[in-house]
Amino acid sequence: MEDLLQKQGLKRTKLRMALLGYLFNSKHAQSYLDIKNALGEQVDKSTLYRNLGAFEEAGLIHRINDQSGMAKYAFGALHDHGNAHAHFVCESCETVYCIENANSSKINVPEGFKTKNVQTIIKGTCAAC
Ligand SMILES: [Zn+2]
Ligand SMILES: [Zn+2]
Repeated sequence: MEDLLQKQGLKRTKLRMALLGYLFNSKHAQSYLDIKNALGEQVDKSTLYRNLGAFEEAGLIHRINDQSGMAKYAFGALHDHGNAHAHFVCESCETVYCIENANSSKINVPEGFKTKNVQTIIKGTCAAC
C-alpha cells in the first residue's frame, strides 16, 4: 500500500493508507457513504473527496457511475491495457461488482465516430440475492 502511494508521488497520510487499504480489501465497489462509515469519525467530507479524486487520477482506484446518482469507487484502474472492465449492478441489493475480463472496448462504432470512454453496466441479481 505504502509503495503504491509512493510510486504515484502521493504523500503517505494516515487517511490515504486507510482509504486505499479499505478499497483494496473490499470485494465490491463502495459508495462515498460506505467509505465514510468505514473510516469513521473525524473524516472531513472535502478531504475524503479530494483524496478519492487524487487516487482516481493516479489510477489507483476507479469511479463507477451506476445511475443510482451516487458514484461508487473500487480498487484498481478501470483500464487495463486499454480495456475497460464491466460492472455488474445488482438490482436487488444495489451492490456494484467489478467484472474483469469483460472486453467492452471491442464494441464497434460507425465510421467517423470516436469512442472516448466506454462504461459497461450489466444489470441483474447477484449470487447473494
Ligand atoms: Zn445482490
Ligand atoms: Zn470496476
